Amino acid sequence: MTEVNFAEEREDYGINEWGAGYFALNAEGHLCVRTEEDSPSSADIANIVEDLVENKNLCTPLLLRFPQLLTSQLTRLHNAYKQACNEFDYAGRHYPVIPMKVNPRREVIETFLQEGAKYHCGVECGSKSELYAALSLEQSSESLLICNGFKDAAFVDLAMLGTRIGKRVVIVIEKLNELRMVVRQAQESGVKPLIGLRAKLYSRGMGKWVSSGGEASKFGLTTSEILDCLRVLKEANMEDCLTLMHFHIGSQISDIRSVKGAIQEAARVYSKIRALDFPVTYLDIGGGMGVDYDGSNTNVESSVNYSMQEFANDVVYAIGQVCENEKISVPNIITESGRVLTACHALFITSIWDEIETFADNHPGVEVDDDDPDVIGEMKQTLDEIDANNYREYYHDALSDKDSMHVQFNLGLITLEDRGKGEVLFWDISAKAVQYADAAGDESEEFVEAKRKLASKYLCNFSLFKSAPDHWAIDQLFPIMPIHRLNETPTEIATMVDVTCDSDGIIDNFIDQSEKREELPLHELNGEPYYLAIFLVGAYQEVMGSYHNLFGQPNEAQIEISPDGGYRIVKTKKGSNVGEMMQFAGYDTIVALEHVRDLADQQVDAGNLSSEDADKLVSIYAKEVGQYTYLENR
Ligand SMILES: *Cc1c(COP(=O)(O)O)cnc(C)c1O
Repeated sequence: MTEVNFAEEREDYGINEWGAGYFALNAEGHLCVRTEEDSPSSADIANIVEDLVENKNLCTPLLLRFPQLLTSQLTRLHNAYKQACNEFDYAGRHYPVIPMKVNPRREVIETFLQEGAKYHCGVECGSKSELYAALSLEQSSESLLICNGFKDAAFVDLAMLGTRIGKRVVIVIEKLNELRMVVRQAQESGVKPLIGLRAKLYSRGMGKWVSSGGEASKFGLTTSEILDCLRVLKEANMEDCLTLMHFHIGSQISDIRSVKGAIQEAARVYSKIRALDFPVTYLDIGGGMGVDYDGSNTNVESSVNYSMQEFANDVVYAIGQVCENEKISVPNIITESGRVLTACHALFITSIWDEIETFADNHPGVEVDDDDPDVIGEMKQTLDEIDANNYREYYHDALSDKDSMHVQFNLGLITLEDRGKGEVLFWDISAKAVQYADAAGDESEEFVEAKRKLASKYLCNFSLFKSAPDHWAIDQLFPIMPIHRLNETPTEIATMVDVTCDSDGIIDNFIDQSEKREELPLHELNGEPYYLAIFLVGAYQEVMGSYHNLFGQPNEAQIEISPDGGYRIVKTKKGSNVGEMMQFAGYDTIVALEHVRDLADQQVDAGNLSSEDADKLVSIYAKEVGQYTYLENR
């Protein structure tokens, strides 16, 4: 373990910057969660985790879900739009709609529809399965069910079915042939569907999802296609079905400037269509409101340079201006924000399983004598004599000694023992060099690099690919911090590696107030469980996560925060077991067991195993099928 003095004070990990007011530290140095920023009562997350581990047999990795934060976020969003409408005398209303793709879990969508009924919160789907699920949910009478995405005849059938059973389904047309299908079905059934058109805007978002918008986007209708659609609707006498104009310029819009342009353009398109006597009344602005994952409040990809209120103000003001200019009445505004509503409600808990040694920790001082190879003697001398004046030169000497040591080893000139000594000496020299460089304020690349190599690697019980896939896929940063010992100054710097057999299963980029950092300040392991939380994983991570190495779903618990600062475990769910992952990969657990039984019997027949031992082995195999896929302390 490397003692590196990076901070004199205890760390708060920037919790006030990225936590949206929901997280805080308590006097015991534990992380707490609360339903509102100024709420005096908060639940102790370290206690919750301990309770789940001790009493519910739910060990890490563990996903904690706080549905109240979904409701709080929805209220904040709706209030921001309401406030903007008041401020700019906007006569339309705001209708929130939840995009299922951000987190299709029933608990999540149901919470929004139930708790958001007072805002007529609706739901958006982009595939047949999402629509199928959405049709099964209770919705308030004024709330919408919006169908985006590419559609085949079965999708259109399902949407029309929804209309006929009394749902306010809006079929958003992405392609002209979808409209033809809808028109045909409407004529056959005599049912008038609500129709929306998705426009391809010239404006684009910024950041990772920039290609969701713009003239070359895969989504939406070009201007001439929109005109074709209008013609088709007119010919079918279905002008009155056109209810909504839709666009979406991409997720996690980090710069507010790209919002304004897009909204102005969309509002123009809306106005022009309205002026052609189509009774559209909704302008659906899609999602895109971002989350300040790194807490920097800037336009970098993992952040946003605006508040919810500023975003809402810009939207409402821009639409109002365009409509005034075009002399048409303003539309109701639909938002399909998903990320900003769901990200904070889930946090993921992992624990440190072990430390991966880079250099021998607690190694006894290396004894070097005259019998040792010259290269080892030289390294020992470097270690003894390195100081504040020569550290750079001596570090370079050590680098070349290390290389020549490995060359000599490969040639069979030195022993394994010698190599072991050389490695220890080299790490000791590095550690000293880094200390001298730090003291001298020397920030040259080679010492930054050396410091990174010296950082501890904590082996954490989770799969990055399952639980924070965007960190791997698109370098998305998530806030990460311990949930306890927060009144102790962390003395280690470490990176996190997961339990998959994939060298990409590593977190070595962390949020930082000024710039990102490659190691996380953590506490020295003390033999007690040490829990780390990855925050803001409620959007996209759960559904995008994959079963790399057949690590399955983590354990899960849904928690309600009580007004008195306590908590209630509402629901728990065991993560995947080995058998479930086998089935996922196409194995039959019964056939597998029979096969192992056969092999064991053959060993009994051959006289290599007693039949009792064979039975024992088979029962071990049979029992493993029900085990958690992650590491377990038994
Ligand atoms: C993905 C998506 C959303 C949600 O976007 P967020 O950035 O999560 O708010 C909304 N609408 C459409 C059409 C989408 O594709």
